[in-house]
Amino acid sequence: MGLDWKLKEKLAARLAREQGHIVYPAGGRARFALAYPNSYFVGMSNLGLHIIYDILNHRTDTACERFFLPDGRELDEYRRTKTPLLSMETQSPLSDFDVVGFAVSFEMDYFHLLDMLEVGRVPLLAMERDERSPLVIAGGPCATFNPEPLSSFVDAFIIGEGEETVGRFMDVYQAAKQDGATREETLRRLSCVPGVYVPSLYEHIYRGSGELETIRPVGDAPAHVERQWVKNLDDYPAHTVVVTDETEFDLYLVETARGCGRHCRFCMAGYCFRRPRNRSLAVLKDAINGAKVYGKRIGLMGAAISDYPKIDELSEHILSEGLAMSVASFRADSVTETMIRSLAESGMKTITLAPEAGSAKMRAVVNKGIDEEHLFHAMELGVAAGIRHYRLYIMIGLPYETEADVDAVAELAGRLKDYLEAHESRGTLTLSVNPFIPKPFTPFQWAVMAEKKYIEAALKRLKKALSARKGVGLIAEPTKSAYIQGVLARGDRRVSCALYRAHMAGGAKAFHRAMKEEGLREEFYLSREYGEKEIFPWDVLDMGVKKEYLYEEWKRAECLETTIPCFDGCRRCGVCG
Ligand code: SF4
Ligand code: SF4
Repeated sequence: MGLDWKLKEKLAARLAREQGHIVYPAGGRARFALAYPNSYFVGMSNLGLHIIYDILNHRTDTACERFFLPDGRELDEYRRTKTPLLSMETQSPLSDFDVVGFAVSFEMDYFHLLDMLEVGRVPLLAMERDERSPLVIAGGPCATFNPEPLSSFVDAFIIGEGEETVGRFMDVYQAAKQDGATREETLRRLSCVPGVYVPSLYEHIYRGSGELETIRPVGDAPAHVERQWVKNLDDYPAHTVVVTDETEFDLYLVETARGCGRHCRFCMAGYCFRRPRNRSLAVLKDAINGAKVYGKRIGLMGAAISDYPKIDELSEHILSEGLAMSVASFRADSVTETMIRSLAESGMKTITLAPEAGSAKMRAVVNKGIDEEHLFHAMELGVAAGIRHYRLYIMIGLPYETEADVDAVAELAGRLKDYLEAHESRGTLTLSVNPFIPKPFTPFQWAVMAEKKYIEAALKRLKKALSARKGVGLIAEPTKSAYIQGVLARGDRRVSCALYRAHMAGGAKAFHRAMKEEGLREEFYLSREYGEKEIFPWDVLDMGVKKEYLYEEWKRAECLETTIPCFDGCRRCGVCG
């Protein structure tokens, strides 16, 4: 095994620039590699990583170290010098760890997960690992809503919110280790931990037509794996633990709330992390007190930040402590004057709103619950506070969308720009436009993903309509990766063979060819009508939301029927009993 000292020194230097990491002396503790399948910059902006790092390192029997995907040139350097992937804390090789736990937030990171295993010298395929290999586990949003495309590479998945499960997982793992249990027996025991899904303990049987006929548990594996969720958020702190300047947004992250009760029909976070919960203001004030020493801007995290009931008090508290605040986006219908003023005083130059669609019809289809007046009101508050720039998140290719709905996006942008010009002559409006990707465990899991030629034509139409407007910009992600994400989001375990083949042939760019070579048709996953009773690859998981409820919501979308948000005493979807 080679070792490039420059790579090792680079990691050590980066570690020296951090505050808050923990390094345990060698020996005595189980070694847990917390791996983020993207760069250090992206990974260190992921609050889940900080939370799990903190929980594991507070155990008396576990030492957790972090691994990140080296950037392009560095990854080549690892390969060229045959250096195994090294940890941040002690620059130890990945394969020396007992457990490798990936935090997976994005489908495109599946390719990076395989790169990290390969460079880390851990056999890629779960079936090829032996008693000396680490256990490879994965958690995070993607692992929660559909683990199947990763099922050939991951021994066990943590389904739902990891705070409670990861501790129980380690208890059972440690006990199995002490008993001298084999890898197989350890995994069998782990499959009994609530929220742990061991894919090798389930057989997937397909019909000749390609659909799943049944998912069959092997031996005494549970028929369903219940996602776990934290009932009282105050039980677990959720803020930045390791502080560094080298993150995407250079923020000290603090989570205000989790889950969202707004029922947008495309939103995986809104369905997989129900019910909506808030952290108490006292706990948030404590977190902000702890942040003061670093002097960083506070990045408030949560599904819909402006829905936090005490957002005004929280905003005022942050500023009164001499700190600044930031939010990624917020709902136009719950934003307050105090919040916007606090953001402006914090130096925020751009407000991001997410109407998702231009027409009232499409906002009813997705159940966005945002009217045009809300957008104008938010802009009015922003302009009054001195904020000049506005960004709108828009999706195209939504179910039941027509050309008129695409035109409505440009028309809405025009009206908002008119308002902006009348009140703030130097203001800009930017549309961030993405194709809609159907996600598991949402009412739109039955939806067809619009074809590439439709998306490209809609984008062209939108660009043309906006070209006449000065100060209105349009940013669109490349459509190619959206279709890979679409396949991976609703893929079954056969797709993991294509992932493996693509990895061997160079990664994401080889995915389309790999699918063909595996005899898999992308249209099967993207553009066919899914049946009401179709067995989905993720049906073995139990998110608490009844499938019939999701289907009813899917049908309501067609009729433009809107659904009211969560409320106390509600029992509609199955999560609250
Ligand atoms: S407001 Fe809608 S899109 Fe935003 S988190 Fe909630 S459900 Fe998702
Ligand atoms: S049961 Fe009602 S309140 Fe509870 S998560 Fe479902 S919709 Fe929301």
